[in-house]
Amino acid sequence: MAKQQEQHKQYTAAFAVQEFQNQLLYWFERQQRDLPWRQNRDAYRVWVSEIMLQQTRVDTVIPFYERFMERFPTISHLAEADIEEVYKYWEGLGYYSRARNLHSAVKEVQENYSGTVPDTPEEIHKLKGVGPYTAGAILSIAYGVPEPAVDGNVMRVLSRIFLIEEDIMKVKTRKLFEDIIRDIIARQNPSFFNQALMELGALICIPRSPRCAVCPVAAHCRARQEGVQESLPVKKKAKQVRVQEMAVAS
Ligand code: SF4
Repeated sequence: MAKQQEQHKQYTAAFAVQEFQNQLLYWFERQQRDLPWRQNRDAYRVWVSEIMLQQTRVDTVIPFYERFMERFPTISHLAEADIEEVYKYWEGLGYYSRARNLHSAVKEVQENYSGTVPDTPEEIHKLKGVGPYTAGAILSIAYGVPEPAVDGNVMRVLSRIFLIEEDIMKVKTRKLFEDIIRDIIARQNPSFFNQALMELGALICIPRSPRCAVCPVAAHCRARQEGVQESLPVKKKAKQVRVQEMAVAS
């Protein structure tokens, strides 16, 4: 158990954390895209954007987000709205359970937290539809809490930087990434740090043919040093994972 808990240290022990943070943040401050949910750090705005961005591309989300925020600019506007109207504004985005969960969680915030999105991991995790990634994104981006926000983009980036060959489909691999982020996150600016990792994954460290020649953190990238960046992350097919789990269970 202790070995598993310390696994992240084998990756971060010899890592130049300060230099990495400086280069990543310097790049993000200059190159970040101008996106509507970055206009301010209001927790509700961040929350809605993160829910819409699940399984949906940024370009698709932007017009939906703008219309939604115009109609439901605050928690109370959304909490008081009829679910049928919320669906209407979600039409075209698909995955309606996201809208349903968001609406019911927002009502809970309105009733139990006086309309203010909670700012502790314990409370925010209890809200419907708020998984570990969304919780980390809201806490770090809106409230500056140094919590990890690990999605597929971030796992790809970190797999390459730290040359991690663990299967990203496994829960324990996600936990490994969260532990690594806790070691390397910029405590003076967790909001920009997490957004910068996501932005790096969206613009530079893309799935195929990562743009290493213009990468701001290339000097820290172990996969690039070994020339194996294109074979990472390791993502085993769901079927194989199921077979392994069944073998373990039997
Ligand atoms: S050097 Fe290349 S593989 Fe490494 S983080 Fe940058 S873009 Fe990704």
